[in-house]
Amino acid sequence: MENYNQTVNKMRSVFMSGRTKDLAWRKTQLKALKSMIEEKREEICEVLYKDLRKNKFETRLMEVEFVLNELVDALNALDEWAKPEKVKKTLLTMMDQAFIKSEPYGVVLIIGTWNYPIQLVISPLIGAIAAGNAVIIKPSEISENTSNFLEYTIPQYLDKECIQVINGGVPETTALLAERFDYIFYTGNTVVAKIIAVAAAKYLTPTTMELGGKSPCYVHPDSDLDLVAKRLLWGKLLNSGQTCIAPDYVICNKEVEPELLKRMKATLVEFYGEDVQKSDCFSRIVNNKHFNRMKSLLSCGEVAIGGKTDEKDNYVEPTVLINVKATDPVMETEVFGPILPIFTAKDEVDAITFINSREKPLALYVFAKDKNIQKMFLEKTSSGGVCVNDCLMHCSVTALPFGGVGNSGYGAYHGKFTFDTFSHKRGCLVKKQSLEILNKIRCPPYTDRKLQITEFAIKKKLRRHSIFGLWPFVIIGAIFGLFLRFFTD
Ligand code: NAD
Repeated sequence: MENYNQTVNKMRSVFMSGRTKDLAWRKTQLKALKSMIEEKREEICEVLYKDLRKNKFETRLMEVEFVLNELVDALNALDEWAKPEKVKKTLLTMMDQAFIKSEPYGVVLIIGTWNYPIQLVISPLIGAIAAGNAVIIKPSEISENTSNFLEYTIPQYLDKECIQVINGGVPETTALLAERFDYIFYTGNTVVAKIIAVAAAKYLTPTTMELGGKSPCYVHPDSDLDLVAKRLLWGKLLNSGQTCIAPDYVICNKEVEPELLKRMKATLVEFYGEDVQKSDCFSRIVNNKHFNRMKSLLSCGEVAIGGKTDEKDNYVEPTVLINVKATDPVMETEVFGPILPIFTAKDEVDAITFINSREKPLALYVFAKDKNIQKMFLEKTSSGGVCVNDCLMHCSVTALPFGGVGNSGYGAYHGKFTFDTFSHKRGCLVKKQSLEILNKIRCPPYTDRKLQITEFAIKKKLRRHSIFGLWPFVIIGAIFGLFLRFFTD
């Protein structure tokens, strides 16, 4: 094993030299990373095929284009993101400059996982570079081909002294975690997250935890079930269900269940033909350990659709289970594969009670036409993110923070949120060495008069919410309404 202490120390001294803080350096690295992804598109598709039998379509969209868009966002907005942000002042600080300065933490560690092995390390890397940090990436040993590709390719494009890839499994990660980092960004399961958190605690290192969990999908009886079947199975079966925000289980009433099953059967044929194993659009389970985990879940409840497996091929057929109990393993642990249990609840209130009795999920899906039902789920449940009437798509909106809550993690990223994650927000007040007369009132000897003036100078006032404040908007709205009416009659 390498001497990680030396590696981290060397990186820290380059960071201390100020190289990574330079905006020009950050932009050069981001542009080089963009070239790398563009030039190595085909190779990325090949390594992902080797690791997960991932189809080119999924790799191009979920890995290549995803990170390219993040790179374009960062390059377009970096000057804006990095600019000091001016803030409101009180009378006492009126003559001074008060601003928030985003500054890099230092040497940061990104630990990735195997299911989207490019996206899940490159996306945080973009924000870490944009914020001006030196970065060590530790990809997952499980997606071996992609990890080797990253280790070999990144040094060809990026500044080797400030950005490095270290490959390895548990021993290497454990050794790395013994070093002092200034930030740790971890993606993976909840059990390992606790090991990372303990290692980070030694130096009070701040962390982001991008974890998983059981993301429920509620289907209301008023839904178009054909549409639900398509959107739900697309979200569930992308990457063979090995997606952190894949709908983990369906929750609906007893009347919805048979109709939904009928539509799901038809959708599967539409998506993959009569024999899913022969389709080149369906990924495989990443390894034998996860294959066996999947297989053991098939004994829960009753198989309503699918159920076939082929160990030689790490293949698990898209499977829907019914009559599952809340205490069955398939309802207790995150599925993370192409098995979809349907859990029945009396109605929406019952479904919400069940969801709230569980750990907070990373995502929550609601299919309902009724706006009151949608609102009810938004207001009465909690989850990392929500998507109404579709699956996964909230993750594609980079203006939305992506992250968990409670057991599904903490911290968030994507777009500017990644830049913010990897930046310390330094509160700065800059005064002049003049106008001391203004400061005299705060200094002893204290008097009632000085107290009165100082209190006046610092006191904040409650904002008045007056209906009169809305009048200009009401008038503009009325004129606009009349205008529309006039032209649409
Ligand atoms: P994994 O086994 O690849 O582990 C993740 C990382 O942790 C790897 O780099 C691995 O080397 C390291 N690791 C494993 N054991 C360790 C230990 N004992 N000490 C130190 N490091 C260790 O992947 P996984 O954990 O099986 O990933 C699947 C989980 O990740 C699922 O729960 C999924 O929902 C979650 N996930 C979350 C997101 C998200 O963005 N929130 C994305 C993808 C996956």
